[in-house]
Amino acid sequence: MASNCNGNSHHFKIPEIKFTKLFIDGEFVDSVSGKTLETIDPRTGEVITRVAAGDKEDVDLAVKAARQAFDHGPWPRLGGSERAKIMLKFADLIEENLEELAALETVDAGKVITFCKMGDIPSAARALRYYAGAADKIHGTVMKLSKGLQGYTLKEPIGVVGHIIPWNFPTVMFFMKTAPALAAGCTMVIKPAEQTPLTALYYAHLAKLAGVPNGVLNIVNGYGETAGAAMSAHMDIDKVSFTGSTEVGRKIMAAAAASNLKPVSLELGGKSPLLVFDDVDVNEAANIAFNGMFINKGEICVASSRLFVQEGIYDKFVNKLVEKAKSWVVGDPFDPKVNQGPQVSKEQFERVMSYIEHGKRQGATLLTGGKRLGQKGYYIEPTIFTDDDMIIAKEEIFGPVLSVMKFKTVEEGIKRANLTSYGLAAGIITKDLNIANTVSRSIRAGIIWINCYAAFDIDCPYGGFKMSGFGRDFGVEALNQYLQIKSVVTPVQNSPW
Ligand code: NAD
Repeated sequence: MASNCNGNSHHFKIPEIKFTKLFIDGEFVDSVSGKTLETIDPRTGEVITRVAAGDKEDVDLAVKAARQAFDHGPWPRLGGSERAKIMLKFADLIEENLEELAALETVDAGKVITFCKMGDIPSAARALRYYAGAADKIHGTVMKLSKGLQGYTLKEPIGVVGHIIPWNFPTVMFFMKTAPALAAGCTMVIKPAEQTPLTALYYAHLAKLAGVPNGVLNIVNGYGETAGAAMSAHMDIDKVSFTGSTEVGRKIMAAAAASNLKPVSLELGGKSPLLVFDDVDVNEAANIAFNGMFINKGEICVASSRLFVQEGIYDKFVNKLVEKAKSWVVGDPFDPKVNQGPQVSKEQFERVMSYIEHGKRQGATLLTGGKRLGQKGYYIEPTIFTDDDMIIAKEEIFGPVLSVMKFKTVEEGIKRANLTSYGLAAGIITKDLNIANTVSRSIRAGIIWINCYAAFDIDCPYGGFKMSGFGRDFGVEALNQYLQIKSVVTPVQNSPW
């Protein structure tokens, strides 16, 4: 049975919280207003600590420092290999502090510690090393233009970047955005999510130790409507890179348009389809589908939350899923036996529970789960509904709630998979190569996984179609988001060519 061991919360040691201020121009400072915000332990609902809460004035100070560092400081002017050296040191320091960082991430976000140690924190070092390797390979092209002219392009850092990040992968998102921007030679202001500021502040400390010059990397914790809004409307931020909800993405784009027309890249929500065909090994496929939905407690934007199973294996498949749900352990994320920790916050917990209640009221069939676990903290049972065409199968829930649906033909599967305003990710499980290729080409989404799911690699660009946003993180594509192209043209006199 899925079990809740959150009663044991206090058996696991929380690391000492060392950094709780804003980080501006290389120093930890209080907010101008002196205001702070609480960060909550989702295992208990208790306050872990208070961190400085920045607002417009703090964003102004951070942007000023970043502007100064960009216009006059060494960072954009260093050779790429010099920036790389510092980034590599930064990566080493992350590895040296892995245990402490993993524990901070777990207590702040409720993410299971085993994943933080194996996945989230090591991925930060990996991102820094990947983009450090690119920092001295940023080249333009040479162009022989029409008669009498020649030209070349320069790829220059775009300037001061604002990164606004969500709470579900605080570390991964931090480096997904800052590592390519650092390699490009940009300076930046980062606003972590108000729910999960702790690891970001630790990274600021390590960046300084590694030798990142003052003003290059600034952190303003704070709420979206205050600090976040001040960044997207700022006249002196040259680009905003955002990951979060579609609703906030819209506001950021509007604020960018209304201010200095800064380019934005938006990684937004999803309701991603996974199609499972009759020819699969049911146990293997059910594993992929179950993990695709329930890893990180469903707080993952690519979650395979619309699962379409072909009719020939449907009953068997659904039984397997229920079996897996029963043996999935929900509980204290510090416990290495646990598969699923608490939802990140009270607000998210209530949102997920209200979707579950809505599903029940609309008449969806509840196969398993559907309840809170324990009296304390934000734990929810892995929940599986079978239904069609209901709100829970259309809107992003961002929690451990799966909708399973039956389909007959390849054409029907494609059609229903595409019936969404989102287009972040999709999956196909089949042994038939032709079906896999046909479905991959037909689904409008930024990443398609065949016979796997949520298989990320830093070298593989990632981003949305449709209302899942635009722009790409990861890969060389992400580096280009932080570069401007400047064309330089000059005449070649008296040349017959
Ligand atoms: P959110 O959009 O509410 O918040 C994301 C960030 O934006 C936070 O830092 C928040 O403080 C800030 N923000 C909020 N209002 C703002 C405003 N008016 N102006 C500027 N900034 C503002 O999202 P969330 O609830 O933190 O995260 C969940 C959502 O994020 C889900 O919808 C999920 O799909 C999406 N998400 C997408 C991806 C992706 O890669 N596409 C990854 C993770 C999460």
